Amino acid sequence: MPQHRAVVLGAGIGGLTAAVALHRRGWAVTVLERAADLAPVGAGIGLAPNALRALDVIGLGDRVRALAAWQGAGGMRSPDGRWLARTDARAAAARFGDPLVLLHRATLVELLVSALPADTVRTGAPATLDHPGDAGTPARVTTPDGTLEAELVVAADGIRSAARAALFPAHPGPRYSGCTTWRLVIPAPAQPFAPHETWGAGRLWGTQPLKDGRIYAYAMAAAPAGAQAPDSELAELLRLFGDWHHPVPEILAAADPDAVLRHDVHHLTDPLPAYHQGRTALLGDAAHAMMPSLGQGGNQAVEDAVVLAHHARTPDAFDPGRDLAAYTADRLPRTTAIVRKAARTGALTLVSARPAVALRDTLVRTVSRFGPGFVLRGFDGIADWRPPLDADPSRVS
Ligand SMILES: Cc1cc2nc3c(=O)[nH]c(=O)nc-3n(C[C@H](O)[C@H](O)[C@H](O)COP(=O)(O)OP(=O)(O)OC[C@H]3O[C@@H](n4cnc5c(N)ncnc54)[C@H](O)[C@@H]3O)c2cc1C
Repeated sequence: MPQHRAVVLGAGIGGLTAAVALHRRGWAVTVLERAADLAPVGAGIGLAPNALRALDVIGLGDRVRALAAWQGAGGMRSPDGRWLARTDARAAAARFGDPLVLLHRATLVELLVSALPADTVRTGAPATLDHPGDAGTPARVTTPDGTLEAELVVAADGIRSAARAALFPAHPGPRYSGCTTWRLVIPAPAQPFAPHETWGAGRLWGTQPLKDGRIYAYAMAAAPAGAQAPDSELAELLRLFGDWHHPVPEILAAADPDAVLRHDVHHLTDPLPAYHQGRTALLGDAAHAMMPSLGQGGNQAVEDAVVLAHHARTPDAFDPGRDLAAYTADRLPRTTAIVRKAARTGALTLVSARPAVALRDTLVRTVSRFGPGFVLRGFDGIADWRPPLDADPSRVS
């Protein structure tokens, strides 16, 4: 049976970042991806200073900073266009030592793959975790081409993680959050606009520029699980947001109905007992899927990956019992707190009763008038995260 020192299940942002981080520490890495190709969903991803610093550890932070647009100028509005809270991209950089940035997901995936040796990633390779391994036995993964043994398995197989279900069968798994999302990337509207996130009654819309002349727009609304528009998702967006302030109607008028992505939001409301078992570590959405209200799901996956590689050391120094327990101890409390905060923030954005919406908006306006860092303060304790001091592999003796 061929020996693979580290096998990563899933080539999403978490799995690819883990592969790069482990490769830089001397691990021979194989990434198994179920999908036929690596084209991620056509949407943007916001990266906060915490993820940028994690990407610095694997030598990609500055590349991402160069490819991404700074986020945060503009602020929060109500559907009629009134400002609830203004933000400033430079204020984020001043507060957290780095900006919040936005780039296309495909750009990030390409960059991560470019940092791996050719043939590291096998697409069209659905994998099953047969055995998580233990101190004396390698972990075992099956693919349609055969079985692989590994000293370390990284299960980065997303919110519907089969690896999580195999390791923790008593865990209830993801629950529906009560809301659905839409995303689209299109050329920027001709009329200038201020980047914004606009909160209405039970729904929100955000528009942020990418660096390449396109914009990333996202929307969220309370909806029953599994609901779909009777005609098209673009028609549904027009019904929900068509009379909101500029540039929302212009974006909807210009959008291609086939380019609108809709996904229901599920999250892991019950934390797992651990993020590892034997020689297998869970990361990203497989470990702690959260609501997108803080834009931290991918950021936390990137943090996980760098911290996991830090604890896994080099292949020869790896002690699964000691090192993966240290990984769980580092990551579980932090990510559990962020999952909960994302759920609280999501609930606030989705209030729909008129008095509650009026109260929320007044509170946001008042608090932000007396303290201009209102929006940014929500990221305290999250965006100011720093990787472990010796996470840089150049310092590994
Ligand atoms: C509307 C919306 C907006 C968001 N915005 C942001 C944002 O701005 N910033 C941010 O940080 N996060 C954001 N997120 C969250 C972010 O998208 C996720 O947290 C992140 O993509 C999780 O990455 P992952 O690698 O853990 O999982 P995934 O990206 O889901 O990757 C899992 C991979 O595993 C593969 N896979 C599954 N099973 C198998 C198997 N058996 N064998 C092989 N491969 C398998 C899948 O095909 C997939 O490629 C947003 C989410 C939503 C819904």
